[in-house]
Amino acid sequence: MIGAVGVYSREGATIKAFYNLYGVQHRGQESSGISVAGARSLRTWKGKGLVSNVFDKRFESFIDPDDYVAIGSASGENANSGYIPPIELESGRYKISLAIDGFVFDRGKKSNEEIFGSLFLENAGKCEDIDSAFSKTMKELQNAYYSLVMALYDKEAERSELIVARDRLGVKPLYVGLNENELFAASESASFDVLENMGEKITKKWDVIPGSMIKYDGGLEEKQILEPRRAHCAFEWIYFGRPDSVIEGQTVHSVRKRLGHALAKTYSLKKEENMVVIPVPDSGRSVCVGVAEGLGVTADEGVIKNAYLGRTYIIDDPEFRKIASDLKHNIIKEAVKGKKVIITDDSIVRGTVSESVAQTLLKAGAAKVEYLVSYAPIFYPCFPDPKDKHLAAAPYKGKNVFEIGDLVGSNLPSINKVMYNSPENVVKAIGLPENELCTFCITGKNPFECQ
Ligand code: 5GP
Ligand code: MG
Repeated sequence: MIGAVGVYSREGATIKAFYNLYGVQHRGQESSGISVAGARSLRTWKGKGLVSNVFDKRFESFIDPDDYVAIGSASGENANSGYIPPIELESGRYKISLAIDGFVFDRGKKSNEEIFGSLFLENAGKCEDIDSAFSKTMKELQNAYYSLVMALYDKEAERSELIVARDRLGVKPLYVGLNENELFAASESASFDVLENMGEKITKKWDVIPGSMIKYDGGLEEKQILEPRRAHCAFEWIYFGRPDSVIEGQTVHSVRKRLGHALAKTYSLKKEENMVVIPVPDSGRSVCVGVAEGLGVTADEGVIKNAYLGRTYIIDDPEFRKIASDLKHNIIKEAVKGKKVIITDDSIVRGTVSESVAQTLLKAGAAKVEYLVSYAPIFYPCFPDPKDKHLAAAPYKGKNVFEIGDLVGSNLPSINKVMYNSPENVVKAIGLPENELCTFCITGKNPFECQ
């Protein structure tokens, strides 16, 4: 996954892309980069690590006030393999740089950007104009999903433009914003709040319509290339998105609160004397507020996350992941001692994090731990990435969520009870029609196969 951004501005495009990138940092912490373009060139600054590491003092010498197109990304993909978006590609006439949050199937060892970008350049050599070349590329790549930002430098015409596009399913989010003479794009709306905090005025904002492309070169051109057949990734609201983002009209925080309410209702949870309701930070927080509201209690804090450890989830080795999780989560003893702890988290994938957190809670004196999970049981690894075979719920496919919770709980020795939401609760809490969501990981319905 990556966080993508784009800016067209005659007043500091590069620095605005840099601010914008901070707004999507949570979508990828392995590498980051920005490509800039104007009348004379297209250049890229990128490296391994967080935005704050990559864009250090030396970056100042890279900034040219004449550049007016900037795109960027914060990537969560393994940067050690050499893949660091944005990716530059070149033909005789054009130089492009692009970043894609998405997946191109059957891409072999090539990156999403190489596949899309080289096909586009090939089409640009055959077609009359950029629009037709881009449309042709989108039509040819229907077996892919992408939220894409591209800087295009036309060497012949000595000018650059910004292009953004989203596949017809709209699997990954992409947001654009406009004012009189600037266009902004970002994976998530929260990034625009960051820009506005930095003094930017964005008058019109919208989710890029699936299947459409937007081109900006001082004037806006928006084209519907493919008929939308929406399948927005449900996990965006559960985990990936920032709580302060609004995706397809649904505020992530509010969705998570509704998921919390649904859990309290589904499991008829009642307020008890010696009970405390606390989240696994950060994605369990909004859920916790919802559960506590449902129970008529006040949510508390008890698990403290050491943010400097980064993401433990992406560690492949289960033993090492357990060590990292033990190291990452600390308990406020006074908050949990002798109490029944109701803990909320977004998901149980393999169960390593949940067991580790519960174990530290017990060690800190909790009487017992019940685990509330805002998502439904995950049976299938996300369809483009089937490498993870150790899903805690996978052996119990076909059973109902209550049984699955009990069975998963019985495999996690420190947890007394696991309570999941059902796929129906998840859809209802997100608030969009079921047929406009991708729920593959919990239902097995592959949006590329459902016509
Ligand atoms: P597990 O069950 O595999 O030990 O880990 C579940 C935890 O990982 C949850 O707390 C959840 O917040 C987090 N998580 C779930 N899916 C993802 C993901 O795709 N990426 C990252 N970085 N964390 C995830
Ligand atoms: Mg988590």
